[in-house]
Amino acid sequence: MKVKLIKSDKKNLQFSLEDSTIAFANALRRVLISQVPVLAINDVTFIENSSAFYDEFIAHRLGLIPLKGDIKGLNLPNECSCKGKGCAKCQVKFTLIKKGPGMVYSGDLKGPAGFSVADDKIPIVKLGEGQKIKLEATAVLGVGKDHAKWQPGVISYGYDDPKRITFTIESYGGLDPKQIVLSGIKVLKKKAKDFKSALRV
Ligand SMILES: [Zn+2]
Repeated sequence: MKVKLIKSDKKNLQFSLEDSTIAFANALRRVLISQVPVLAINDVTFIENSSAFYDEFIAHRLGLIPLKGDIKGLNLPNECSCKGKGCAKCQVKFTLIKKGPGMVYSGDLKGPAGFSVADDKIPIVKLGEGQKIKLEATAVLGVGKDHAKWQPGVISYGYDDPKRITFTIESYGGLDPKQIVLSGIKVLKKKAKDFKSALRV
């Protein structure tokens, strides 16, 4: 199998596969969409919310905001030594404090050093005079098969004839597109290894 890089920038990656199969391309696409760990807000504690929106509505919007940061040292909650209870090794805390009047943007969500929103201009809720929001949000790693908010981006492939398959990766901004592919290949590799050792027993 030959891999040829066509285009690569901060958010997009395009490459072609030659001497491969549609079955392999499909397996790769599915792994990239559903099994690559990405950071997203999963829990929100409201200290104050006098906006026109319900807490649940705002929490849902916060969950869909792409987050970026160095996730290498983070564990998936179910693989963490805390057994999913939540600790510094599997959680990243963000805070948001804003007083009206004005629009609350994703950029108002502040994380610890090294972590931030991928795009700071996403509108969340408009505050009127005297309205206020104060909350703490907990982000965790997750995968797209559990919820779409953990999908790293849009991944597609096409072909004119099955000899050459062209892949396009458009990141939502949380992960570098190359990182999405490398992380997906790692997952595929682990699956193949687990399968191999399961057959040995
Ligand atoms: Zn933990």
